[in-house]
Amino acid sequence: MIDDEMYDLIVIGAGASGLFSAISAKNNGAEKVLILEKTDKAGQKLLLTGDGRCNLSNQEFDLSSYNFYAQIYHKENTAFLDTAFHSFDPDKTLAFFNDMGLMVSYRNGYIYPTSYQSRTVLQVLLREAESLGIVIEYNSNVRNIEHIEDSTDYQVITQRFKYKSHCVILASGGSSFPKTGSSGDGYYYAKKLGHTIIKPLPALTGFILEDAIVERLSGIRMMAKVSYRNHSQKVFFNTGEIQFNKYGISGIPVMNISGNIIRDMDENKEQTAVCQLNFFPYWDEDILSRQIALNMADFIEKRPFCLLEELLYGYCNEKLVELILQSKDFDPKMRLCDFLNRREDKTKESILQHYSNELERLCDAFLRFDLKLIGYQDFKTCQVTSGGICLDEIEPETMESKLNDGLYFAGEIVDVDGACGGYNLQWAWTSSYLAGRAAAIKLRHSN
Ligand SMILES: Cc1cc2nc3c(=O)[nH]c(=O)nc-3n(C[C@H](O)[C@H](O)[C@H](O)COP(=O)(O)OP(=O)(O)OC[C@H]3O[C@@H](n4cnc5c(N)ncnc54)[C@H](O)[C@@H]3O)c2cc1C
Repeated sequence: MIDDEMYDLIVIGAGASGLFSAISAKNNGAEKVLILEKTDKAGQKLLLTGDGRCNLSNQEFDLSSYNFYAQIYHKENTAFLDTAFHSFDPDKTLAFFNDMGLMVSYRNGYIYPTSYQSRTVLQVLLREAESLGIVIEYNSNVRNIEHIEDSTDYQVITQRFKYKSHCVILASGGSSFPKTGSSGDGYYYAKKLGHTIIKPLPALTGFILEDAIVERLSGIRMMAKVSYRNHSQKVFFNTGEIQFNKYGISGIPVMNISGNIIRDMDENKEQTAVCQLNFFPYWDEDILSRQIALNMADFIEKRPFCLLEELLYGYCNEKLVELILQSKDFDPKMRLCDFLNRREDKTKESILQHYSNELERLCDAFLRFDLKLIGYQDFKTCQVTSGGICLDEIEPETMESKLNDGLYFAGEIVDVDGACGGYNLQWAWTSSYLAGRAAAIKLRHSN
């Protein structure tokens, strides 16, 4: 069936980006705005964010730093993000939410709604959309977007209807968490309209470990620096709490570099990868060595028969200690008196001098523990997609396609993915605001 109405703007997807871009377009003067949503509800992924609390942005946004974009958004070419975020930054985002009646709270730099409920953010967006007269059609699965012949307008085709519109914003999300509706459809339509798609891969996800390791370590949480050296010898790292769980390893530092590891594995057709854990990221190697020597000197007097692993129980979880020692060929069950049996003199200085090789190996075990990853958690559970519509084909101030007049992109569908901490939603708000405003301005100029 054909819907004869000519819309100013059709937005595809009623997620964070779709709702925000439609509101932005309306606020900037677009009149007839329609959102087509595949599922029967808006913002299903938004509801899951921040464990249901919605970490919607971050206070530590550093708009002027190359390192910021490189580390948080994994981009070497920072010009695109620099332009986009300067055009609509986190302060403007919070002011925009304030105007819609949403108040925020801060916790360790992370920004949340004061209710600490993602439902509140969705309610505010839906209330605003409704009062602006934005129509949302649910259960409308967009199957294609085409140019109308001899015109710059578009035809958007769902399973039931054909709609006509002057402008289109594609905000259909990436491929992560498909049960929320975003299953990567948008890439297909963008590709048909000539766009290059950087291969979508899971990011912000955990890795699978060998069964034997999972059995031994499941349930352990520890502070660690996680590093990965890719095939081009570039090192990615992040520090924070790691978590060994029922399938392998996760936690914020692991998730934050997961996109880099997975892309490297994919590009090199590798099924496995090795990352390195440093369990004492804030310790100098020399100080750690001296500390172990000091404890050895003390223990050999008080408890000479204690096992090597017992000596180190105070350093990290006992199950990990055993594995760490074994990783450098130490016998965790070796008695300290047998370990230090080469010399009579067992003072700290003597241990440092005469057991320097062993101490070096022990430090190495704690500071450079190699962990074999045998796979990763896929799109079903990852938090975000890396890859997507190539930035070279998008104008950063407007999010308009350089290939198709009147076509805009917003949110996760674009080749931008951020670290944990509200950076992905901030990208959704920024790109959506710019797309909505630009579409409205274009419409004004064409009337
Ligand atoms: C568990 C989890 C927790 C997260 N926590 C955070 C967090 O705390 N902070 C943060 O910054 N980020 C977080 N993220 C990431 C964040 O949720 C996403 O980056 C953001 O929601 C992307 O918004 P979007 O609107 O671009 O895409 P989506 O939210 O995926 O919305 C896309 C919409 O398009 C619809 N759609 C798809 N295809 C079609 C079609 N063919 N026709 C019509 N409609 C279609 C979908 O049904 C969906 O409603 C989290 C993600 C997950 C999965």
